This record gives sequence, structure tokens and C-alpha cells, in this order.
Amino acid sequence: MNLALWLWRTAQRSGATPALFEGTTCVATYREFADQSAAIAASLAALHDIAPGDRVALFLKNTPAYLPALVGIWAAGAVAVPINAKLHAKEAAHIIADSGAKLCFVDGPGEDELPGCIRIDTGSDAFARLLAHTPVADPVERRVDDLAWLFYTSGTTGRPKGVMLTHGNLQAMTYAYLADVDEPRPGCASVYAAPISHGAGLYSIVHILRGSAHVVPASHGFDSDELLALGRHFGDVSLFAAPTMVKRLVDHAKSHGLSGEGLNTIIYGGGPMYLADIEDAVATFGPRFIQIYGQGESPMTITTLRRAAVADRQHPRWRERLASVGTAHSCVEVRVADEAGQPLPPGETGEILVRGATVMHGYWNNPGATADTVRDGWLWTGDLGALDADGYLTLKDRSKDVIISGGTNIYPREVEEALLTHPGVSEVSVIGRPDPDWGEIVVAFIVPRAGADISEAELDDHCVSSIARFKRPKTYVFVESLPKNNYGKVLKTELRTLF
Ligand code: AMP
Repeated sequence: MNLALWLWRTAQRSGATPALFEGTTCVATYREFADQSAAIAASLAALHDIAPGDRVALFLKNTPAYLPALVGIWAAGAVAVPINAKLHAKEAAHIIADSGAKLCFVDGPGEDELPGCIRIDTGSDAFARLLAHTPVADPVERRVDDLAWLFYTSGTTGRPKGVMLTHGNLQAMTYAYLADVDEPRPGCASVYAAPISHGAGLYSIVHILRGSAHVVPASHGFDSDELLALGRHFGDVSLFAAPTMVKRLVDHAKSHGLSGEGLNTIIYGGGPMYLADIEDAVATFGPRFIQIYGQGESPMTITTLRRAAVADRQHPRWRERLASVGTAHSCVEVRVADEAGQPLPPGETGEILVRGATVMHGYWNNPGATADTVRDGWLWTGDLGALDADGYLTLKDRSKDVIISGGTNIYPREVEEALLTHPGVSEVSVIGRPDPDWGEIVVAFIVPRAGADISEAELDDHCVSSIARFKRPKTYVFVESLPKNNYGKVLKTELRTLF
């Protein structure tokens, strides 16, 4: 089944329902949204020779044109290649060349920087001509194994690879959302504060199915003040946010005496949420948070920490659960395995493997990397973790980030969690530095809170009070900010190059 059919059905059922918003202004109903996608689908084929299976890229900020273009690409039977708008044009050009995209929707200057493909600016007459085209009646037929989305990895360890996600993968992801994450209520507004090219856009599908309003902030990005105002305006907002965004939102709300009214469902994931930060978030906003753990290779769907588990302060193991990423999504098996892929008992740390309906079809044009990553149907995530007896998974680190000092494994995350409980520490990142005696030693990069005056000795004492002595950092580096990629993930590779 073609995913685009869900938009067709919602438009049939509730065509007059407001669908697309820029800030608080409605720019299209569901009937208009579906008509735009149908016209884009028709014109991609008729004017630009796009055939089923061809790739069409989207190098767009979060704008109201994004979703009609995305669904239009699917309706044409083509494969969408969403590219993070914050990437450099050269990086986007690499993705376009690698995917073989014939056409790219853009919303800015840079005419000469995307060679080899047709460029259509969503603000141009050319785009208006697509929208004015006679629409297709129905989406092109697609099977579950046909590709829908080439998801380029964020490339923290090398060139990004194209993860092949099928219509079936994205349908399974959507059902898993409804089974395990949340049920959007009628009148819900999905707000896109994080890039639509990534997790937030993947979640647009469930909101199309359920007929939610899709709200692109007028700032086209993340702005705490604006988000809090959108919550008050729409009354029932659902949004996906990276942990750093949640922290900024909560800090902002606290400093302005706001309670986050209307921001009812805040789904966080994509990077580590530290215990100190989520405790603070729950104390400020109450039961609004749900965590998901996923990766492009099993989009948004490996485990989830449900709303009740995040908020249940009475539970005897509430803190342990809050520090976990929750339990397996309904449609996947999750295993913590040894190097041979055999399951390890609860409490032991190994690599996290996933098998099920959301696991990617493979890497685009890269059978070697696919064979390394998906073995016997199991996706080797590269993340390390441990399950407890109740099935809650706690992530340790990416396997390549583990520090081996004196032959013992030290998980940076544990040291980071300990340092973050110091009141003078705002952000922290821990890495290993090569050392002739120990193999590696622990180094902590600290971003102090504004106005805080902290010493190494104080941090050392603080660590010793909560973690084993051998895990504490041997060196502290005080910095103003941490290097992050375009998704807000800390670039440990960049920190390592400092040594
Ligand atoms: P990406 O494919 O760019 O979405 O990155 C996926 C990676 O982000 C995972 O393999 C994890 O290392 C990390 N990640 C995703 N969700 C979480 C989470 N809830 N907590 C900690 N790390 C996460």
C-alpha cells in the first residue's frame, strides 16, 4: 500500500478540517493539502519525467510546502530523500549525487551548488505551476517492500549512508506509535520544531492518518517562546524534540514562570536524556513526556518509555526507569547480545540488536555495509546497553565511544550523568584520551552554568561521591559550548581530535 493513501482517506473523511499551519495561520484544509499533493504527483511525472522508484530530494527548511511535496513524491511512486536544511550545500550535493535524485525541492539561493538535478524553489513560479497541474486521481500503486524514504544518517562517523525505508517500514512505525507511544486526539496539533527531514517528519505520517493539524512554527525552527505560545494557542500540541530542546524549553518556561500549557505530548529521543534533566522537566511540566529510542535503520522504533513510566514518581524504581529508554516497541524484538549475537542475561551489557517490521531494507548502493549491519534479520545498532529483569533497556553508549582504561570499560554516559548532578554544570561530554600507561584516560569537557565558579577539585569530590574512583575524569576541560552536529548531537569525534 502507498503511504500517500492515508492523506487521500483523511481528506475524503474530513476535507474541511484545517491541515497546514504557518504559526497560527491556517494555509490549507485537508482537501487542499491532498489536492496539492495530487497535483505535485501528476506534474512530477508529466513535466519532469519522474517515474516510480526515482528519487526526489527535499532540501527545505520546515515550511508549509514540505508535507504536500513529501506526500506528492510518494503519490507519484517516487522515493523521498529529505535532507537536513542546515547541511552545507556541498553536503547536500553529496546526498543528491549518492541517491541519484533527479529533482530537488529547495527554498533558498545556491543555484549552482546542486549540480546534476532539477532544482525547484517552493517559492517560485515553477512550484506554482506544479500546484496548478491537473491532479492524479489516486496515488501510484506501491507494495510494502517498495522504497518510500532514503534517510541519510547524520554521519557523525563518516560519510552519511542512505538508509532504505520502505512503505511497509513506515506503516509499521506508524502502528507502533499508535500501539506504544500515543494516540493523537481529534483536534491535536503536531508542531514541527525539529527538522521534518528527520524524526519530526517521520511522525507527520501518524498525524496525517489521524487528521491532526500540522503546524510549522513561523520561525521555521525551535524557539522556546514561540513553542510555549503555540501550546497556549492550539491547546493540544504534540511535538518531537531532541533532549537539548527539552532542556532549553523547560529552562525557559521555569525562568518565565510558565507551565507549558497545551504542550501535552512531548516525545523526546535521538540522543541521551540525562536523568537530572528529565527529573527537572517532569517536576516543571508534569506527565507530558514520552521517550523513544530508535535510529534511522529502525526509524523511531526500538523502545519507548511510556508517559506513565516517565511520570510515576511513586514507583520504587522510578529513577532507574527514567534513566532507561523503556521497553521494546510492539513490532520488534530487542536483544542485548554478545559478539556472536547470542542473548546476554539481564544486567549484562552488550550490543543492542533489533529485528522486526521497522528494520530497514539495507543501505542504498552499499551491500557491504548492509551485510555488516543486518545479519540474519537482526540489525546491529552499534549501541551498547543492558536489559533489566522487567525488560527495560538502559543505553550505555555507542560501542565506539566506550573508554577502555587499564583494561576496564568505562561508559562515558555514567560519568556524564554523575557530573550533571553538580549544580554548577550545565552540559558535559566525556571522552577517552590515549595514554601510554592506561591505554586511555577519562577526559571531561564541562560547560559551566552561567555565573558558576567551579574547580576541578570540587568536581573530583563530586564524582567520588557517586561513582567508582577509577571512572572519574583525570582531566577537565572547561569550554563555553560543545561541538554539535545539525541534529544537536555532541560530536565526540571532534572533541577527540583536540588531543
Ligand atoms: P539517528 O539514526 O541519527 O537517529 O541516530 C540514532 C542514534 O541516536 C542511536 O543509535 C542512539 O545512539 C542515539 N539515540 C536515539 N535515541 C536515543 C535515546 N532515546 N537515548 C539515547 N540515545 C539515543
